[in-house]
Amino acid sequence: MKESLLIKPLMNDFYPKAVRGSGIYLYDDQGKKYMDGSSGAITASIGHGVKNIIKAMHNQSKNLSFVYRSQFTTDPAENLALKLNEIVNTDERYWSFFVNSGSEATETAMKMAIQHWQEQGDYKKTKILSRWISYHGITLGALSMSGHVTRRERFQPLLEDCPTVSPPYCYRCPFKKSYPDCNLTCASELETAINRIGSEHIAAFIAEPIVGAAGGVLVPPDGYYQRIKQICEKHRILFISDEVMTGIGRTGKMFAMDYWNVSPDIIALGKGMSAGYAPIAATLASEKVMKPILKGSKSVMSGHTYSANPQSAAAALAVINYIEKHQLVKKSYENGKYLLAKLERLKKSHPIIGDIRGKGLMIGVEFVSNQMTKEPLPSEKGLTNKIIKCAREKGLLLYPASSGVDGRVGDAIIIAPPLVIKKREIKQLVSIFDEVLQEIKRERR
Ligand code: PMP
Repeated sequence: MKESLLIKPLMNDFYPKAVRGSGIYLYDDQGKKYMDGSSGAITASIGHGVKNIIKAMHNQSKNLSFVYRSQFTTDPAENLALKLNEIVNTDERYWSFFVNSGSEATETAMKMAIQHWQEQGDYKKTKILSRWISYHGITLGALSMSGHVTRRERFQPLLEDCPTVSPPYCYRCPFKKSYPDCNLTCASELETAINRIGSEHIAAFIAEPIVGAAGGVLVPPDGYYQRIKQICEKHRILFISDEVMTGIGRTGKMFAMDYWNVSPDIIALGKGMSAGYAPIAATLASEKVMKPILKGSKSVMSGHTYSANPQSAAAALAVINYIEKHQLVKKSYENGKYLLAKLERLKKSHPIIGDIRGKGLMIGVEFVSNQMTKEPLPSEKGLTNKIIKCAREKGLLLYPASSGVDGRVGDAIIIAPPLVIKKREIKQLVSIFDEVLQEIKRERR
C-alpha cells in the first residue's frame, strides 16, 4: 500500500477512500455504497453529483476562476449577495461579506459587531456573549465564542471568555424547570449576565438558532428568541444568528430563525449555502449594522484572499436556485416530520434512545443508560462511536454530536440526510438504524 502523509481525524480507525457521489449516496474505492445520512457534516443538502451545479461552476471557470476581492467585483458575487438578501425573511436589507468557512463567517460577524460600535465612538463595546453548549467554529476567535469543552481545553489560555449563559436544553433543563412554567429562565439569564458585565462592554450576543454538533440538536421553546431579541435591543447589543448549520433550508425553513420570526442583526452562513460544491460562506449584516460602517471606514476590516471567489459564488448561487426550483425547503419540512415520527417509533424497542428532537431534516438522537432517569451513557465506553461505526459498516453515515451533558462529544448523533431524500429512502435509513441499535443491544447484553 502507498504511504500516506495526510493527517487524518484520529477517531477514524477505518478511513475509506471516496471516489464518487451520486444523489444521497457515496461510493468508496472498494465499491462499497454509503447512504449519506448526515450530508457529510450537515452540508451536502442537495445531494452529490448534481449536474446543474457542476455545469454552473464549469461555465464560470471557463471565463474567470479568480480575481482578488479588492481589485474586482464579479457577477456571481453580486448576484449571490442579491439572492441572499432576497431570501432573508424581513423587510430590512442585508449586505453580504463572503468568506470560505463557517468559522470565518462567525469570526467576521464578531469583528463586524465590534466595528459597528467603534464607528459610533463606542470603543469599549468589544465583548461577545454566547452560550455553553454551542459551536461557532475552530479558529481562535470563533472557538472563543464556542461553549464546547473538548474543542476549547487545549487552547484555553489563548481564548477570550465568551460563553456565559445556559442553553435552551429542555430535555435536561439547566434550571431543573419545565416549559412553559419555567417562564424562559434560560433567556432571562442573558439579562442577568449583561447586568453583571455591563452593556457598555458588550458588542453582541451570538447563538445557533438550533444548537447543532455541541448539543445533538437543541430546539429552543417558543418565545425564547423573541425574549433574547428584546433583551439585546434594550441593552444596545447586536444579535448574531449562527445559521452555518441550520441555514438554507436544512430545518424546513429557509433560515431556522424564521420559525420564531426574529430578525437578527448579523447572520453567519456556510455549509448548505453551497451544499459542499465549493468552499464558500457568508456573513450577512443588516442595514442597521452597516450604516455606521459605510459612513465611517466605508468597509469591513476583514477579508481573505479567496473571499467572494467567482467559482464558489457561482456554485452557491446555483445551489440556492436549485433548492428554490425543487422546493427543497418545503420537502425538508415535510420529510423531516415523516423521519422524526419514524424515529420516535424506535424509542419503544430501544431503551438506549433518550430523546429525539429536531426541525426539518436536522434531527438529533440522544442516547442514555436509562430512559426514565435520563442517566447519560458512561462516556468511557464510547458507545456512540460504536453506533456510528456499526452504521457505517452497514452503509449508513451518521454524524457524532455531544449530548451536551458535560460538553464532551459522545452521547448523541445527528441524522440529516440530503434534502432530496425520498420517503422510501427514509424508510431504508430508519431500518438500517434500527438494525444498528439491535446489534448494539445484543453486544451490550
Ligand atoms: N457554526 C456552526 C453552527 C457550525 O455547525 C459549524 C461547523 N460545524 C461552524 C460554525 C464552523 O464551520 P466550518 O467548519 O465551516 O468552519
